[in-house]
Amino acid sequence: MTGEPAGDQPTTINLGGGFVYLRRVDGHAAIVVSSIAGTGAIGMMSASEVDARTHDALRRWLAWWAFPDHARIRRVNQVHGGRVVPASSYNGAAPDADGVWTRDSSDILVIRAADCAPVWIVDPPNKTIALVHAGWRGVSAGVIDHALEALETAGAHREDLHAAIGPHIGPCCFEVGPEVSALFLDDIGAVGDAGLLVIERKRQDGVSLDLGAAIEHRLLAGGVSDVRIDAADACTRCHKDLLHSYRRNGTGGPLMAAIGAVLP
Ligand SMILES: [Zn+2]
Repeated sequence: MTGEPAGDQPTTINLGGGFVYLRRVDGHAAIVVSSIAGTGAIGMMSASEVDARTHDALRRWLAWWAFPDHARIRRVNQVHGGRVVPASSYNGAAPDADGVWTRDSSDILVIRAADCAPVWIVDPPNKTIALVHAGWRGVSAGVIDHALEALETAGAHREDLHAAIGPHIGPCCFEVGPEVSALFLDDIGAVGDAGLLVIERKRQDGVSLDLGAAIEHRLLAGGVSDVRIDAADACTRCHKDLLHSYRRNGTGGPLMAAIGAVLP
């Protein structure tokens, strides 16, 4: 909590792409993925007043938003890789993976991020959802492709899928070197001129990477329709009042939680 007076009106801020920051009159805030409303699934993110690194903080935040205590939290041990696992495979500890999917309404899928993009992919006919932690390493390791494959194996037709790309480090603040940009040269719009950067550059050969464009390209290449892909345009580093950012806060800084679930 920030300690500011909550006021007597809820606050909403449009983060683009169907992502809406909502602060209730009691002061509790969340970012709602409104673009997947009506698909049979729900998606939300915590905002800057919650540090979702701890299980207790995550549970408290979920309780504010009326998720039941008995819901099964299905997190993954994020390793910036390409692996996507079914929530039904859980057996004790969180698996090493960067994506998880379910069609069981008792599951709450959880990933944590601060600059990487959370990505929700919903298959409405089968009431199935995948939630992906997509940073540059995971995207180049195929995490988006593997999520689409997992949903297809579970019965999805790719043309039915809806995808929502959450707030992430924007092309304004994401400087990468040629060894990283080389991984994204085929992704239309992903690699941009250094002139797009508003931050102080760290290297002579640095360029701007548009992580959202790279993710969108891989969704499109994987057969998701462009009319069913939405992307937040809020940069985590620029929105310091609303969003956590690894690049702003440093190692060990707070993280946001992104959650996904299917409705009963
Ligand atoms: Zn920025």
